[in-house]
Amino acid sequence: AFAAAPAVDPAATTSASSIDPSRLRNVAVIAHVDHGKTTLMDRLLRQCGADIPHERAMDSISLERERGITIASKVTSVTWKENELNMVDTPGHADFGGEVERVVGMVEGAILVVDAGEGPLAQTKFVLAKALKYGLRPVLLLNKVDRPSVTEETCNEVESLVFDLFANLGATEEQLDFPVLYASAKEGWASTTFTKDPPAETKNMSQLLDAVVTHVPPPNANTDAPFQICLQYGYAGFMSMSVDHRLLWTLQRVSMMEPDFYLGRILTGRISSGVVRVGDRVHGLRNKDSGAEKIEDGKVLKLMKKKGINMVLTDCAGAGDIISIAGLSSPSIGHTVATVEIMSALPTVELDPPTISMT
Ligand code: GDP
Repeated sequence: AFAAAPAVDPAATTSASSIDPSRLRNVAVIAHVDHGKTTLMDRLLRQCGADIPHERAMDSISLERERGITIASKVTSVTWKENELNMVDTPGHADFGGEVERVVGMVEGAILVVDAGEGPLAQTKFVLAKALKYGLRPVLLLNKVDRPSVTEETCNEVESLVFDLFANLGATEEQLDFPVLYASAKEGWASTTFTKDPPAETKNMSQLLDAVVTHVPPPNANTDAPFQICLQYGYAGFMSMSVDHRLLWTLQRVSMMEPDFYLGRILTGRISSGVVRVGDRVHGLRNKDSGAEKIEDGKVLKLMKKKGINMVLTDCAGAGDIISIAGLSSPSIGHTVATVEIMSALPTVELDPPTISMT
């Protein structure tokens, strides 16, 4: 098995988690490679109290393997001013087109990270197109403003390039009205006004976290309906070109079933409706031409979320939230897990076949 087994820290077990969708924000972080997504995520986690070792938290697959925890797994939640922010990492590479759609289909907002020196590049366009198509209104984060070459003028130029990109991609009026923040992920701060050296009391990520809470709508989700969740979690922690692409592709297809020797498969997805509790009887459903086919009856044994860099247990989760479930062995990507009252599976997003050449 290639995907790391999540280590569940019993000490980190939470009490009943909030099931108030108005307190949730689901945000994708999208960027061209090297524009600073990893550094940014690391800073956000730190600011929200994650106990992170010195290595960059979202970065190191070898670190992840060593520690047996899913550091690079794609959904991480942080608590900010009593809101729970589920931050979903997005692969920037076009080869993962289906994966990007899956991610942007799970969230209501996005942070678009653009290197203030380089401006928007190919992958910026690629992932932004998908985000706009799914109706998201991204927050623009111009990163690396600490660089000597970056000035207010160059930032204005980059902003208008990004604006043109939005427009060319068919953004709506609302989407074109994106907020802009200036950041040095490296130095650990973001600001709503241009600066290269914010005052000490605002030299942090608070303004970005506030912007996410303000600008990203909470999920429009019904917790009173019966529980159903669409399993849509693939794996894309590493985009290193040195990794064999055939292997990557296989990983992507199978790795939502992150193997954990004690818990069996761990299935991750966004809860479409209802509330799920540990012990609930659920079944796995698969779409067929003739309707939904039941593929397994089972019970929710554990519910987990990644908080900071730890998998933590929770006893319930509600509509709009992104959660990992252990207890079922048959369902996989695109399948639905639901309480017994539901007899139709949710529509699925099919993964595009790989477009990379196998050399
Ligand atoms: P990713 O590929 O988008 O995840 O980008 P990384 O977070 O790995 O950053 C790519 C490179 O840019 C690394 O060398 C970072 O140290 C550097 N970097 C990231 N953020 C900043 C920043 O705010 N300022 C500067 N000067 N460098 C940065």
